[in-house]
Amino acid sequence: MRRDEPGKAQGKDDPKMHMTVVMPKQDPKVRVKNFEEVALGYTEELALAEADRCLQCKNPPCRKGCPVDVPIPQFIDCIRQGKYAEGIAVIKSKNALPAICGRVCPQEDQCQAKCVRGRKDDPVSIGRLERFLADWELEHGVQVPERAPPTGKRVAVIGAGPAGLTAAAELAKLGHEVTLFEALHVGGGVLSYGIPEFRLPKSIVQKEIDYVQSLGVDLRLGYMIGRIHTIPELLKDGYNAIFIGTGAGLPQWLGIPGENLGGIYSANEYLIRVNLMKAYDFPEHDTPIRVGKHVVVIGGGNVAMDCARISMRLGSTVCLNYRRSRNELPARKEEIENAEEEGMTCRFLSAPAEFHGDEKGWVRSIRNVCMELCEVDASGRQAVKPIASSDFEMPVDTVIVAIGQMPNPIIQHTTDGLVTDPRRGTISVDDDGRTNVEGVYAGGDVSTGSATVISAMGAGKRAALSMHEYLMNQGGDRTSNGN
Ligand code: FAD
Ligand code: SF4
Ligand code: SF4
Repeated sequence: MRRDEPGKAQGKDDPKMHMTVVMPKQDPKVRVKNFEEVALGYTEELALAEADRCLQCKNPPCRKGCPVDVPIPQFIDCIRQGKYAEGIAVIKSKNALPAICGRVCPQEDQCQAKCVRGRKDDPVSIGRLERFLADWELEHGVQVPERAPPTGKRVAVIGAGPAGLTAAAELAKLGHEVTLFEALHVGGGVLSYGIPEFRLPKSIVQKEIDYVQSLGVDLRLGYMIGRIHTIPELLKDGYNAIFIGTGAGLPQWLGIPGENLGGIYSANEYLIRVNLMKAYDFPEHDTPIRVGKHVVVIGGGNVAMDCARISMRLGSTVCLNYRRSRNELPARKEEIENAEEEGMTCRFLSAPAEFHGDEKGWVRSIRNVCMELCEVDASGRQAVKPIASSDFEMPVDTVIVAIGQMPNPIIQHTTDGLVTDPRRGTISVDDDGRTNVEGVYAGGDVSTGSATVISAMGAGKRAALSMHEYLMNQGGDRTSNGN
């Protein structure tokens, strides 16, 4: 029995204490026809009932599972006492973007994976409670924290994704003058162009960007560093330090015959067209998208799930084609469940070997090969190998390739001597985000490869603190004539 009847639990033996309070969601049959948010959030009553399940551990292991060290029992206690403004302040002492993390953090592998309740029962739904407080704050007005007095130091942050937004917010709070350069016409990075509206409403991302700007950060949109200015030029122009948070937006391809046929998209192009250019609302918005009746999505991560769920909302049937088994699917469990509820089917242990097209050059079918799992490889996952003579043909109208992204190399190519990993294209940094170039820091997907929102934010925050130390103690005394 899941706990879907709210109410205050009566004691530790109350069965309600064993099971998490279910968050209301849109019905799958309804939501598959719209782009509105699927998960509706806890009401006050549901949040209080869930908060009541927290044991208020003295040495809370949940906190160790959070990459930014949110004081979890403290904010949950604030909910229990109805002190919502205090609760959100507790979260924001460590996490600048709680409305986003409460929605998209892989909590089940992080804070909630460590919750002691989870040893016997359902863990406390920490992410849902975080979202409850963050949404309460957005409704009641966001408190802007005080800034330290101006330090007279100028910092450039490149990329307005979670890493850059966090670094910019932290540096501004510490009194530095921050310019945030973003290549696209909107901020948010993957939060805006990648994660769809029905999982993360863009109005929420915009409110978090507004919050960062309210701290005094100067956000410059449509400003691609490496093309308009280079990093050496920014340093020469008098920026005392630089943070690179340019993410991993370069799609990876399969490299098999027929991949350049019409109707085969990279996940990035597909997501940008739909999320950023609102192609689902064509001709109301002017970017069209051609999606056929049968869509095959290749991959198994969050990106693949998002592409699948968008395609179903555009009226297609969707099959996920994944070369490992269900157990190895890297996407969040909740998102796999949501996608399957909405009608996604899966073809496991199957990998494309060749695409076939029609006379007009549009993809018509995939020649797939069956795979089998073998020993664990260097990545810690089970490797796969093809099964001989197992080929089969899969009819298709549209294919979306969602097998991973790499950093775009423009900054790396225009910054002399910047050390990178030649295989992965990532910028090499130490634990505090320092690159080998003095005064230049980096963090998020551009230094780790594709990861998570919260890990990018953690990297942005660590780098900001280290930059602050650098700026205040030793460095960055540059003038417009160079240093
Ligand atoms: P990004 O979010 O990529 O932001 C980088 C920004 O830098 C972009 O705005 C880009 O336009 C800008 N930029 C790039 N080059 C330049 C330049 N030269 N000059 C100026 N600006 C530049 N993670 C989760 O935790 N949970 C999820 O559910 C989840 N789902 C995802 C779904 C999708 C579809 C995708 C693609 C990713 C998902 N992730 C998820 C991963 C997560 O979004 C990323 O790990 C995170 O956004 C990385 O943050 P970042 O700031 O490093 O980079
Ligand atoms: Fe959990 Fe993410 Fe919140 Fe940390 S930021 S407490 S990992 S939901
Ligand atoms: Fe509460 Fe679980 Fe954290 Fe303990 S581990 S404080 S029960 S959320």
